[in-house]
Amino acid sequence: MPSPKKPHTAWPTSGMQPILRRDLLTWYKSHQRDLPWRRTRDPYRIWVSEVMLQQTQVATVIPFYHRFVQRFPDLAALARADIQAVLKHWEGLGYYRRAHHLHRAARELVDSGGGRVPDRHQAFRALPGVGDYIANAVMSIAFDRPRAVVDGNVKRVLARLGGIGVPVNQAAAHRVFQRTADRLLDRGCPGAFNQALMELGALVCTPRRPNCPDCPWKKSCFAFLNDATDELPKRIRRAPVPEHAMAAGVVCHRGRVLVVQRPSEGLLAGLWDFPGGRRHPGETGPAACRRLLWEATGLKVAVARKLIRVRHAYTHFKIELDLYLCRKDSGRVRLDGPQAFRWLRPTELDALPFTGVGKKAFARLPLESLCRGRRRG
Ligand code: SF4
Repeated sequence: MPSPKKPHTAWPTSGMQPILRRDLLTWYKSHQRDLPWRRTRDPYRIWVSEVMLQQTQVATVIPFYHRFVQRFPDLAALARADIQAVLKHWEGLGYYRRAHHLHRAARELVDSGGGRVPDRHQAFRALPGVGDYIANAVMSIAFDRPRAVVDGNVKRVLARLGGIGVPVNQAAAHRVFQRTADRLLDRGCPGAFNQALMELGALVCTPRRPNCPDCPWKKSCFAFLNDATDELPKRIRRAPVPEHAMAAGVVCHRGRVLVVQRPSEGLLAGLWDFPGGRRHPGETGPAACRRLLWEATGLKVAVARKLIRVRHAYTHFKIELDLYLCRKDSGRVRLDGPQAFRWLRPTELDALPFTGVGKKAFARLPLESLCRGRRRG
């Protein structure tokens, strides 16, 4: 047993590993959740689920997964689809780059003639958007390849089990945890073992108040035996993410509202939004709105009034967006920034994939009455 209060990176020892594997797999058999992607061995569906589960909670993913595989039941269907349809089915899940990558990978696989998910790690890992986690998860779960997965849940469990003091959000940590996970992996049933380890992190070894008395590893766990579950895993404190003040216009004209499509590369690529952008320091919201609309769309607008404020958090920054009701004064749309625009009736907006903040905004705005020129309240 490691000495109390001393992180012990060689833990668990090789002699303990068979017992840990057995106890974890026994626990998993009776405690695993019945999740839709666990009812299939179809590598495409397992891949879709793992991509969705990166950065997103299981409960959130389930309805998106059902809708996605119903609309795109296999690689060929996904490859045939227009990216706008794919984004529409991803709308609300966030991290849209995942959808772009999945779509591109499907097209590569179909175009290359195989049209199947590769069952070799190297070939699969070379596809767009496939990193170590996705490659190891799909290879182990769909094809029983002996590849250990390391995600946030796994790092937390291993940090506590082994008393590993490397901060989990440090770049070098991944290699440390990958080595530990590789040593611990049950090579006889890697898919079940990986899922069991992630499930333990999700259900028992939770970030706060882990349920150690019900844990299959409590007899070997460094953190439990040393009363150190609150101290592990370690994290480096990061600077708070910046908040950007934004302004955008709800430009109504002849019963229609103007929406623009973001460029095909970069953050939120290809998604639709109300035209706008970042405010300059010291700039008022209406002035920013007029300037941004002029710069992005070439329209001169009159700002009638502020409609709503929407807040949204991305990984590396937050935004506070003020939306203004605008009337078109003069000019024709000529884009500088966005790749496309449309004048749509409010009922037509739902057909497009919107950014998270755009979706939040149009869910709260009485667009029908705004476009008819009536004031609310
Ligand atoms: Fe996590 Fe507690 Fe289990 Fe250790 S005993 S792995 S801290 S739940």
